[in-house]
Amino acid sequence: MEIVREDASLQLYSGAGKSGSKYKMILSYYDSSAHPRPDFPALTENIAVDVCVIGGGYTGLSAALELAEKGLRVALLEAEKIGWGASGRNGGQIAAGYSPGMIDTEKIVGRADAARLWEFSVQAAQLLKERISRHRIDCDLKAGELYAATRDSHRQWLLEEQELCQQRYHYTGYRWIEAADLPDYVTTERYSGALMDDNGGHLHPLNYVLGLAAAAREAGVMIYEKTRVLAIERGARPVVSSAAGKVTADFVVLAGNAYLGGLESKLAAKIIPVSTSIIATEPLGVERARALMQTEACVADTDFNLDYFRLSADNRLLYGGRDQAGSRAGMAGDGLRANMLRTFPQLADVRIDFAWDGMVAVTRNRLPDFGRMGKNIYYAQGYSGQGVPLSSIAGKVMAEAICGEAAGFDVFARIPHKSFPGGTRFRVPLLSLAMFYYRLRDLL
Ligand SMILES: Cc1cc2nc3c(=O)[nH]c(=O)nc-3n(C[C@H](O)[C@H](O)[C@H](O)COP(=O)(O)OP(=O)(O)OC[C@H]3O[C@@H](n4cnc5c(N)ncnc54)[C@H](O)[C@@H]3O)c2cc1C
Repeated sequence: MEIVREDASLQLYSGAGKSGSKYKMILSYYDSSAHPRPDFPALTENIAVDVCVIGGGYTGLSAALELAEKGLRVALLEAEKIGWGASGRNGGQIAAGYSPGMIDTEKIVGRADAARLWEFSVQAAQLLKERISRHRIDCDLKAGELYAATRDSHRQWLLEEQELCQQRYHYTGYRWIEAADLPDYVTTERYSGALMDDNGGHLHPLNYVLGLAAAAREAGVMIYEKTRVLAIERGARPVVSSAAGKVTADFVVLAGNAYLGGLESKLAAKIIPVSTSIIATEPLGVERARALMQTEACVADTDFNLDYFRLSADNRLLYGGRDQAGSRAGMAGDGLRANMLRTFPQLADVRIDFAWDGMVAVTRNRLPDFGRMGKNIYYAQGYSGQGVPLSSIAGKVMAEAICGEAAGFDVFARIPHKSFPGGTRFRVPLLSLAMFYYRLRDLL
C-alpha cells in the first residue's frame, strides 16, 4: 500500500483492494460527507476566563457547552481542528452501559455505584439525543444497537447481562434476538444470538461534533483551533500556555483523552491509546444495503477485538475493527476488508472507497477514568470504546462539579484505576502482547 497523505496522526492509504479498485485519496468518509466546517482562530493573546477547556472533541465541547449555559466564561483550546481526534472519526455507535459489562462493573465498584453508573449511561444517551434535537444538529441519528454473540459462551454472558439490567435496574431497552430470528436484522451466519438495545443507535460522528461546536459558540464559548497547549502552570488560578498566548482561569478541564500525549503524565499512565480502523464501501444502493441489514440498527460483536458496522445515510457499509495497541500497523485496508468478508461474504465484488483509523483510550478495567488534579483541574478520559454517549454525561458532571455540585462527578471519580505497567516507554509493547493474546483467544 502506498501512503498518499499524512498529517500529525492520521495516515491515509491508497492501494488496490482484492476487487482491483483503488481506495479514494480523501480523508475519511466522514470528512467527505461533513457539513461546511468553520475556521476558528488560533489564540494569539493573553486572556482570562472562568474555565479553560483543553481539547475540542465531544468531552471538551460538552463540558464547555454546559459551563457556558450555566453563565461561565469559557475558552476552549484545540491543538488541531474541532473533531480532529476520535470524535471526528469513530464508529458513531451509541450503546448503554460500559465496556466490561455490568456484571464485571459491579465487581469493580460494588452494587450501589454500579447502579448509579448504569443510570448515568442511560442518561448519557438521552442527553446526547436531547442535544441533537435542541440544537438541531443534522447528524443522521438512527435508532437501535445490536450486540451480537460470536460464540455460545458470549451468548450466555449477554443473556446474563440482560437479566441483571432488567432485574436490578429495571431496564426495558434490551430485547434478546435468537439466532433463528437474526436474518430479520442482519444477513450473516456469524452470530449465535444478539442483544438489541432499542435506546442505542448511531450517528455521523463528525457532523455531531461540528454541531456541538456550533452550539457551544452560540452559547458564548470562545473556541480556538491550531492552539496546542504546551504547559499548565498550577496554582489558585492556573495558567495554560500555547506557543502564542496564555489563558488564566479559575478551573481547567483536560479533555485530550487518547491524544493528550505527555501533557500530564499522571493521566497518560492510566490509559493506553489503542488504534482501531474503519473502511467504507462504495454506496450499495437501497436494495443491496437492506439485503444486508434489514433495520436501521448498528452492530457490534462480543470479541475482545470487536468488529462493528452500520449503514451510512447514503447506504455504504461502514465496517470497523482490528485494534492494534499503540500502532497503526493494522491500518484499515485489505486486512479489515477480510474481516468484513468473513461477516458478509456476499460483498466480495464491492469496492472499498475509504479507509481511516484513530485512537481509542482504554483503561485497565475498561471503565472511564474521571478525576481532579488539585482543586481546580478536572479530567475525563478512557471511555474504552463507549465515548460517543459517555462523553456527554462527562461534560455535564464536570460542569456541575465546577459549579459546586460534585455528587455525580464523584460516582465516576471513585472508580478505582491502576496505571498500566511499563511506564510510558514499555506500556505500548506490553499491551501489544496482551492484544495479541486476546486476538488469538478470539480466533480460537
Ligand atoms: C475509529 C474509532 C471508532 C470508535 N467507535 C466508537 C463507537 O462506535 N462508539 C463509541 O461510543 N465510541 C467509539 N470510539 C471512541 C470515541 O470516539 C471516543 O471515546 C470519543 O470520541 C472521545 O472524545 P474526547 O473528546 O474525549 O476525545 P477526542 O475526540 O480524541 O478529542 C481530544 C482532542 O484533544 C485535542 N488535544 C490533545 N492534546 C491537546 C493539547 N495539548 N492542546 C490542545 N488540544 C489537545 C486533540 O487534538 C483532540 O482533538 C471510537 C474511536 C475511534 C478512534
